Amino acid sequence: MFTPSQRRQLPAASRRQAEGQGIVAVDRRGKHQLIRLANGASIHVHFLLDGDWSFTLLPDAPPRFARVEIVLDDGTRVSLTDPRALCIVKVYTAANPPTLKIGPDADDPGVTAGFFGARLARRRVAIKVALLDQKLLAGIGNIYAAEALWRARISPEAPADSLSAARVTRLLASVRDALADGVARAVRYRTSDRADQFHVYDREGKPCDRCGMILRRLIQGGRSTCYCPRCQRR
Ligand SMILES: [Zn+2]
Repeated sequence: MFTPSQRRQLPAASRRQAEGQGIVAVDRRGKHQLIRLANGASIHVHFLLDGDWSFTLLPDAPPRFARVEIVLDDGTRVSLTDPRALCIVKVYTAANPPTLKIGPDADDPGVTAGFFGARLARRRVAIKVALLDQKLLAGIGNIYAAEALWRARISPEAPADSLSAARVTRLLASVRDALADGVARAVRYRTSDRADQFHVYDREGKPCDRCGMILRRLIQGGRSTCYCPRCQRR
């Protein structure tokens, strides 16, 4: 336990809940992970912006920016690396399990256009803001929200509750295509040339890949979005 914030989140009593316990399952939704332990307790990890697990073997040195570590019986050290120390790690007892107030993963096959549309219809915010709300669908970050909207030719400012069924269907497919593309190219948040890998993300002032119009940027809910003012419609 390396930082004061993590010491507060993981006092000795809650660390003891996890000590010596077998890991029976690891569930992930969006940037949340639940590590379920044999005694019914669980470790909830929220990775926030750049948290990630990193694996080393004892007695090698821990990785840079390691904030929390789990040491397995075989000497594997699993470290939560988090340069900005923003991640949240908490241990929950069997009697008091965590309730994650987040929606299903965007790539969950159970998420249909009908389900997505019904949820959007209840949102009176811009579609870009709705896409980032993890209670709607989990796993869509700022980059993929912008990319998906460009693919679906929908303005980030379009009201979420105004989208036709056809646009909802196209948007869901676009979200999945953008996410799949990201996985395929193993795009990481930290790569320096990342702007070249996207159609709109971080490309303000550059021409649209589809129509050549100069891309613009706007701020919504404190997050910035690049978009094409010509081919993305409200
Ligand atoms: Zn365009």
